Amino acid sequence: MSSKTQIIADVDFEKDGKHQGYLRIPYSHNLAGWANILIPITIVKNGSGPTLLALGGNHGDEYEGPVALMKLARELQPGQVNGRVILIPALNLPAVLAGTRLSPIDGVNLNRAFPGKYNDSVTGLIAHYLTSVLFPLADIVMDIHGGGRSMDFFPCAHLHRVSDEEQFQKMLAAAKVWGQRYVFIYADIAGEGLLPVQAESMGKVVVTTEMGGAGQCSPSVLQITERGVRNVMIHLGLTKGELDPPPSEVTVVASTDREDYHLSPANGIYESFFEVGQSVEKGEPLGQVHFPERHDYSPEVLIAQSTGILICRRFPAGTHRGDCVAVIARPL
Ligand code: ZN
Repeated sequence: MSSKTQIIADVDFEKDGKHQGYLRIPYSHNLAGWANILIPITIVKNGSGPTLLALGGNHGDEYEGPVALMKLARELQPGQVNGRVILIPALNLPAVLAGTRLSPIDGVNLNRAFPGKYNDSVTGLIAHYLTSVLFPLADIVMDIHGGGRSMDFFPCAHLHRVSDEEQFQKMLAAAKVWGQRYVFIYADIAGEGLLPVQAESMGKVVVTTEMGGAGQCSPSVLQITERGVRNVMIHLGLTKGELDPPPSEVTVVASTDREDYHLSPANGIYESFFEVGQSVEKGEPLGQVHFPERHDYSPEVLIAQSTGILICRRFPAGTHRGDCVAVIARPL
């Protein structure tokens, strides 16, 4: 493995049992030569069943995934597993420690850094390690996101509409067992180099989520996250148990058109007229931006460009022109 990547893992991916250790990323800085960043990793392996790679902290301000996966890393034992579970709760550790979306080291968004290169900045090295070492080991890749500090989501599993129909149906089935009312099909409207896209291109069944957000780790959303991870493991036959909640009708909604993503028309204070999860009609006022420096100016009203569910909205009211303030997901 050392020839493929500059990151060294001090855990054995092939040995049965529970192994906890670190991914060691070379990182010299002004106060430390020959230093490493140590990203915690847990492997729980028993026999030759499927491999789940479960990741939290791709963005450092999304806390539901890291907390759910750290709890699982402490609790899960080899006797409960038929196959292999690889857990990295704080994938972009520098960003998680800083509570930021981007890495404080190189300013890079890990979820735009794929596939990464052998020689790259710290964030690119993490991406490259996943691409060259971890994704090839995995049957299913779970990348747990939330809204972070800038968004509040109606909690949902989400996925891309990949062109391979068999892969898509497997991804959809794994998203549905997450147990939420909506499964959300999304589009990449802001850049390339996403972790799920890289894993999808390698034929993996990819499960991603948008769990709440608003910079918090609320009890209700954390419970959804923990249940979702457990359900996916049961669905894959990795662990035994009953799905909780039991399988029920799930509505598939999609924001695959650029118009579904509503950007702020101005700098100011965004007032949303809707809570997440509420229905919105095309042409209806969705919210408005106030101008605190000019009381004589009327707020600028944002009109809904599609009909559906408000799946997420901006969380801090203060906004800049061009910030995404609302996403409408249309029932399919
Ligand atoms: Zn994210």
